Amino acid sequence: MDRRAFIKLSALTGSAATLAGCGSPENHVIRFVPDDEIVPGIAQWKPGICPLCQAGCGLQVRVMDADAEVVRNGQRGMMKVAAAKKLEGAASNPINRGGLCPRGQAAIQITYHPDRITHPLKRSGPRGSGAFREVSWEEALAELAGRLDALAGAGAPTLAILTRPRRNLRQTLVATFLERFGAPSPLTYELFGDDVLRRANAISFGREQMPTFDLTRSNYVIGFGADFLGTWNSPVSQSAGYGAMRSGRPGARGRFVQVEARMSQTGASADEWIPVRPGTEGVLALGLAHVIINEQHRPPEAAGTAGALIEGFAGGLADYAPDEVAQRTGVAAARIARLARDFVERRPSVAIIGGAPLAPTNGLFHALAVNALNALAGSVGQPGGLFFMPQAGAPPAGRGGLDQAAAGLLSSADPPIQLLLIDEANPVFTAPAAWKVREALEKVPYIASFACFLDETSVLADLILPDHSFLESWVDARPESGALVAVAAAAPPAMRPLHSTRAMPDVLLDLSRRLQTPFDPPLPETFDAMLSESFASLPESEAGDAWTVAQTDGAWSGDLPQADPAARPAREPVRFVEAQFDGDAAQYPFHFLPYPSQAFLDGSTAHLPWLQELPDPLTSAMWSTWVEIGSEAAARLSIREGDMVEITSSQGSVRAPAIVSPGLAPDVVAMPVGQGHETFTRYASGRGSNPIAILAPMREPDTGALAWAGTRVRVARAGAPEGRLILFAGQMRDIEARER
Ligand code: SF4
Repeated sequence: MDRRAFIKLSALTGSAATLAGCGSPENHVIRFVPDDEIVPGIAQWKPGICPLCQAGCGLQVRVMDADAEVVRNGQRGMMKVAAAKKLEGAASNPINRGGLCPRGQAAIQITYHPDRITHPLKRSGPRGSGAFREVSWEEALAELAGRLDALAGAGAPTLAILTRPRRNLRQTLVATFLERFGAPSPLTYELFGDDVLRRANAISFGREQMPTFDLTRSNYVIGFGADFLGTWNSPVSQSAGYGAMRSGRPGARGRFVQVEARMSQTGASADEWIPVRPGTEGVLALGLAHVIINEQHRPPEAAGTAGALIEGFAGGLADYAPDEVAQRTGVAAARIARLARDFVERRPSVAIIGGAPLAPTNGLFHALAVNALNALAGSVGQPGGLFFMPQAGAPPAGRGGLDQAAAGLLSSADPPIQLLLIDEANPVFTAPAAWKVREALEKVPYIASFACFLDETSVLADLILPDHSFLESWVDARPESGALVAVAAAAPPAMRPLHSTRAMPDVLLDLSRRLQTPFDPPLPETFDAMLSESFASLPESEAGDAWTVAQTDGAWSGDLPQADPAARPAREPVRFVEAQFDGDAAQYPFHFLPYPSQAFLDGSTAHLPWLQELPDPLTSAMWSTWVEIGSEAAARLSIREGDMVEITSSQGSVRAPAIVSPGLAPDVVAMPVGQGHETFTRYASGRGSNPIAILAPMREPDTGALAWAGTRVRVARAGAPEGRLILFAGQMRDIEARER
């Protein structure tokens, strides 16, 4: 008997046994014949790409036989499948070099999540009620194609696609689809985006790109707010470099200083943690530059254009003498002078800015100041310093302005967006309530979503075309940062789809062929054909052509010539201007710092139970939200650990249990982002509170980005502990505030 016949026979006997055992047909479990030849007990390793942030870490997916509940031809049943069982970091990928962060490890739970959307759904109740009925793919696609035809016939560019910013071919396809349809480029939104730093790098260095840090060869690092070991930019790559800097060179341990208003996971690893007044980080950077110039360690012209952009730089930054800087920042003058000397004497050194310092209204100034400091020290493009990764083809940038799009919808009787497609974005949760995104979406006549899960945004859709999981699809990434060589990643599906889902890129291509007026020229037949084409211009290596290498290893990498810097627009030199904070300081005495949590980032991974039960690295809290408040402020307000507190801004209030923390600058309260979902699977819904909701709609004026660190709040004790704070360790870890 051959193997396939044996499996069929076992399937039949399995069904018969079930019937006999249960005695009722409704308990009968259908067993399908496996799609593939599966060798029991033998693991295969397949390439993949982590989809959970823009870092684009490479995966090795362990695939083995397993019994799984699947949908085949519209029918649900059990089948022996080749199933992904474990994710590891791809050792050959120069971004993550074999590592993965906890989110990457937990990503496997997306595929097997019990609340995945398994069929196309059509709204069957009031919008937002969550009432949907299953429809066939044919019905769903015919309906959406008909809507698109109606829009094209009206000749109005009122189609929009809302995504998070992505660096992959999927984004290129979305942009191409819109362009051929005659619609505006994709609308993109990300709460913790890095547009301010990209803009600063364009101004200072002619590169609108996130930087890469050569930490492996650094001797001295100053971080300005960047949680670069936890959540910011390319944390796995940066953690590998940091590990090598600290202990990879016998006898040469690099020193690390972190400056920030709230101690992050990265700050907890520092030799020296320095609390700073929010909105003054760039002043401190220029205080260091003042000492470096005036003690003649480096001449001001060493900073080149990046220095010339700062008012007074050529004259030695007279306004940034340590005593003056100490007044503004809260960091002692003697300490500023010592940091400055260390920064130049211990070279190669590098300064890293990211996160909260970029998110008040004056965030661009801070980034330009840190860029000038790096340039002054000779750290740009030098070993141990800051680089810009050569790019193996960058996808077209989207357009921001979600707040303006929402305002346009709310103010217009004839909505400027008639049909909205939403892909990998949940702005109803991640945008401030003041933007009224939910109310604006309710005015869009027709919304289709490619969501895998019902969340606060997809629940508003009229039609849901559920995407495959990333393990069931072709995936790709063109990382912007994290390696000194160019990287182009692509991987075929690691396993067959479990449910009646379809890959979003293939759905978009299918739709393009269904339109009454076909695109000219047409889009590629399949997404993998488009991917293959995108690798054609990359050089061959000894292992073969780039496309073959990518499919085998999950990524091609190599040296590519660095594009020339872009022309820098002429600008007047910048000077420090105090940040504008929403809320009067007398009424709202605290700065409010929401921050991306290690487990959930902006809340997009809160549906994964492994991440819910992951203890926060500083507080050990899990399955909950909390408010961090400084010891002195807590004593002043009679707040004790675990007490319920109410945080109130001009926009509203949230309640959460308090954690009394020594790791905060004076008059700062902080909350992790990620919990507080109303609709996001059984694991995240109705758990904790969402600090984004009370953010004021402040903006960084140059980029229009949300100034998410620009809100003031007041804090009040709201009651005794209610048991909502769950600590893994039972009590808060003692964090020693060093050298205050
Ligand atoms: S940093 Fe973490 S979440 Fe981001 S791609 Fe890498 S493994 Fe995934």
